[in-house]
Amino acid sequence: MLEIRTVGVVGAGQMGIGIAHVVALGGYDVLLLDVSLERARAGVERVGANLARQVASGKLSEEQRAAALARITPADGATALKDADLVIEAATEEEAVKRRIFQQICPELKPEAILATNTSSISITRLASATDRPERFLGIHFMNPVPLMKLVELVRGIATEDATFQAARTFATRLDKVTTVSEDFPAFIVNRILMPMINEAIYTLYEGVGSVESIDNSMRLGANHPMGPLQLADFIGLDTCLSIMQVLHDGLADSKYRPCPLLVKYVEAGWLGRKAGRGFYDYRGASPVPTR
Ligand code: NAD
Repeated sequence: MLEIRTVGVVGAGQMGIGIAHVVALGGYDVLLLDVSLERARAGVERVGANLARQVASGKLSEEQRAAALARITPADGATALKDADLVIEAATEEEAVKRRIFQQICPELKPEAILATNTSSISITRLASATDRPERFLGIHFMNPVPLMKLVELVRGIATEDATFQAARTFATRLDKVTTVSEDFPAFIVNRILMPMINEAIYTLYEGVGSVESIDNSMRLGANHPMGPLQLADFIGLDTCLSIMQVLHDGLADSKYRPCPLLVKYVEAGWLGRKAGRGFYDYRGASPVPTR
């Protein structure tokens, strides 16, 4: 079995930095890439800040923080991935973006390197076909925020070899995560169930059944969810929520998955949730204020 020592992470957004964080704490060397070296460096800085927060709350020692941060290198371009044993793509949830990334990075990778995607919804088999190694390709789907969430969903494509799957399972277990296995259907297990609920919460707002506050309080206090569905949508990113609903709608051809027009409107406004400073809540002040 291929021994994984160096892990490339492509995309230094919310998920990419979370993945880099746990992978470095797991003792692996990490190469972090984004569209520019500047963005990759900003990602490493954010990992540093998040590790420091864990030291402040007593979850990590200062030595663990410093050692993990020293293992992460911001990288400039695909050639930096030549020594990676595993590359995890965690870029924007758009098939065209992911396909372009695979075309750029595959020629640079070692032939035996495993390539994985953190996609929330897109077909693993279809993404694998955009690579030169469908047998060494799979879905390794981390949850947000990666350092806190226990689950990793593993998804095989039609061509994924058993050795690839076993290597990924061993890797996730070494990160102290619990794995589940999903077949390769749109949005897999977690988002197949979660995202229609979030979309329904947005319809509930759109139809005037309740305000942002009423909907979130109802589900927090009435269903014991740790976050309200609109708060959770903002946390995930409304662009990601919309992309997942589109994949469900297109992939399963059932009108029950149609994305709520209000979700489309928020994304068109650039109100993408917490990462953009505004979504169903406005995060620019001291505490979040509902935007409707
Ligand atoms: P994000 O918008 O925070 O980050 C995406 C990053 O990808 C950005 O930094 C962007 O600059 C970068 N990027 C775009 N094109 C690129 C390219 N060509 N090369 C390198 N980097 C590029 O998004 P996110 O929330 O981190 O989501 C990333 C992936 O993780 C998506 O596939 C998403 O579905 C999945 N995911 C998201 C969540 C969540 O809760 N947000 C949970 C699990 C999985």
